[in-house]
Amino acid sequence: SYPVDVASIREDFPILERNVGGDTTTPGEGPDDTLPLVYLDNAATSQTPKQVVEAIVDYYYGYNSNVHRGIHHLSQEASVAYENAHDRVAEFIGASGREEIVFTKNTTEAMNLVAYAWGLNELGPGDSVVLTEMEHHASLVTWQQIAKKTGAEVRYIRVTDEGYLDMEHAAELVDDSTKMVSAVHVSNTLGTVVPVSELADLAHEAGAYIFVDAAQSVPTRPVDVEAIDADFFAFSGHKMLGPTGIGVLYGKEEILEEMDPYLYGGSMIRSVTYEDSTWEDLPWKFEAGTPVIEQGIALHAAIDYLDDIGMENVQAHEEHLAEYAYDELTAFDDIEIYGPPGDDRGGLVGFNVEGVHAHDLSSILNDHAVAVRAGDHCTQPLHDKLGVPASTRASFYIYNTREEIDKLVEAIDDARQLFA
Ligand code: PMP
Repeated sequence: SYPVDVASIREDFPILERNVGGDTTTPGEGPDDTLPLVYLDNAATSQTPKQVVEAIVDYYYGYNSNVHRGIHHLSQEASVAYENAHDRVAEFIGASGREEIVFTKNTTEAMNLVAYAWGLNELGPGDSVVLTEMEHHASLVTWQQIAKKTGAEVRYIRVTDEGYLDMEHAAELVDDSTKMVSAVHVSNTLGTVVPVSELADLAHEAGAYIFVDAAQSVPTRPVDVEAIDADFFAFSGHKMLGPTGIGVLYGKEEILEEMDPYLYGGSMIRSVTYEDSTWEDLPWKFEAGTPVIEQGIALHAAIDYLDDIGMENVQAHEEHLAEYAYDELTAFDDIEIYGPPGDDRGGLVGFNVEGVHAHDLSSILNDHAVAVRAGDHCTQPLHDKLGVPASTRASFYIYNTREEIDKLVEAIDDARQLFA
């Protein structure tokens, strides 16, 4: 048995019933699709249950309208649903209210929002931004480039050979010059779970803020921004059963209050003259223009779905599958697995097979209808440090099974023999 009811969950995901293998120029199920899909690319994007798609359909068929409280009936319904979505997200991550929840396009945009609206104004020569060596490019490139514009220095906390964050090194790097610590919560490449609340303490003792990149943690485990004491915290809807096109930026109310807007335009102003403008209340100050209405409403449905399962159970299922995959793969002595041991990681396994390029491997896995990701997973400097150009990553979610991991392992074995 599993920590979650996989069989009934799978019924909510029609895509998991399709076969793949045929012509990819016509999206959807083609006549020459032959093998049942094994979808193990969840860290890139998760699949979408009927309940979320139905929320989108209900919106477009029932109350599609622009928000911000137009006088007519549909606009009021859409406004309430859109505002409630902010409340639901706040509740889900332990924020105090909708003032602290800004909807963005994705995690990347949330990171850029803070880097531009806060970093450009607050950073300068003599200041430092402290990152980890396992940052996703969303955070690494963003802070690197804002640092270049402002003259601030970027420092990287070491990752140990075992794939853990070196907390002694963190304590050395975070000092009086530090204004921002930005750290990934669960590494999308190594599966490492970073002790972000310890990092938050270090940052706060130095008078710095901490930004937690929660793109891989919010979908897969219970989180509480106040327990972590994160100043900023971001994640993406499409990795947690929601649609693409929506991300969330959480920020402590008093910090967001002080910050300038990131984008200017309609819906984010209180009053405008030809000379000057004033800003709407939080969070609308940061949501210029027509916002992500459909996506926000769908994210609400996705959170309801996950909450029904229970995030503790989601986490237990992830860990169960990750440990199973790790154990199966360690049986091969020509496979190198990156990151911490199988019983101490998030729900993904990144690896390389000796003598086989990750792209060739994933292409053979694709012949077996096993969908994984190969490449640098937007962590190029980390791959440089690991001494490999790319890795293959299998990542699991609530609908995956041990049988699917067995198929993954069989396909890998096939590739080993082909290249032997
Ligand atoms: N951070 C991490 C750890 C991620 O895994 C990802 C997605 N691969 C991102 C940030 C960026 O997310 P998005 O592409 O949705 O902005």
